[in-house]
Amino acid sequence: MENRSSVLLIFTGGTISMGENSSNHSLAPLDTKQVLSFIPELQMLHVNIASVSFSPLIDSSDIQPKNWIEIAHHIETHYNDFDGFVVLHGTDTMAYSAAALSFMLDGLTKPVIFTGSQLPVGVLRSDAKENLITAIELAAAKNEKGEAMVPEVALMFEGKLMRGNRTTKRNAEDFDAFASFNYPELVRAGVHLKYYEHNIHRENNNAQLTVANHFDDNVVVLKMFPGIRPETVKAIYSISGLRAVVLETFGSGNAPTAQWLCDIISDATASGIVTVNVTQCRAGSVEMGHYEASVNLIKAGVVSGHDMTIEAAVAKLMFLLGKYNSAEDVKREMAIPLRGEMTI
Ligand code: ASP
Repeated sequence: MENRSSVLLIFTGGTISMGENSSNHSLAPLDTKQVLSFIPELQMLHVNIASVSFSPLIDSSDIQPKNWIEIAHHIETHYNDFDGFVVLHGTDTMAYSAAALSFMLDGLTKPVIFTGSQLPVGVLRSDAKENLITAIELAAAKNEKGEAMVPEVALMFEGKLMRGNRTTKRNAEDFDAFASFNYPELVRAGVHLKYYEHNIHRENNNAQLTVANHFDDNVVVLKMFPGIRPETVKAIYSISGLRAVVLETFGSGNAPTAQWLCDIISDATASGIVTVNVTQCRAGSVEMGHYEASVNLIKAGVVSGHDMTIEAAVAKLMFLLGKYNSAEDVKREMAIPLRGEMTI
């Protein structure tokens, strides 16, 4: 008898789960059965497919850390029953969710593939079909030893499988909506599925899955721009309960050299607020100390985010703040890669 792989689809919402209302052409969420009925080709995959669904389905602009916990809960509950997992998700915040899940799922040995689409599954020219079919194929794929080909949290879009915590939504219109600027693709889905083995992370086969179920969202992103005022920075650092700041800096991690900025951040560091330096550039890395414009940040106790995306930095901070009370513990783990989210 044929030994089929099995994949669990986790529907969270987004454009991929929508169809056009034939009477007034407005877009409305479809149920799981309706979505799958638009893709009869799934029968040809020789994969056993089951599904669970958020109720109600949500636009990914409404995603909260509690929804990441819900996705992880489905994976944990069904971990032994399936060979892989596909998360259908809106594109707007998919990079945040993929990053968050990568941190939550420690000891992962099975694929967790996020995908979505730019056009609803139920309209002509939709990219939903290709994205979903390929995501399922990749979630089901095993090597000759029976191990998952891609045992990582990854994001599949327009023929590219990327490490989830390296992705960014870069285009609001093109089908080629996601990029991984600082890490190469894991798989290219062209005529053949081309696996770039050396880019794929593989845990020890005996690794046990442990799932984090706590985030602390006392985090803010503060973008530097020419003319930013001391009152603005002070107000942000004075937010009640704030525990961490992602400082979006210029170029290779530079910020205005004004003493007031250094003073505000130094005081915040002394009071236990963690500041992480991530560049506004989409590609490349922070190199603190390379220019004088980042020397003050070192003095102020800022941690380098190296080549992490903003999405990964936010998710990683929420995850670490959920795990540790002490700023020192958070800083120590921010400085090292936990799931291949940065290169140092
Ligand atoms: N607003 C939608 C969402 O992120 C967009 C999409 O899915 O492409 O849920």
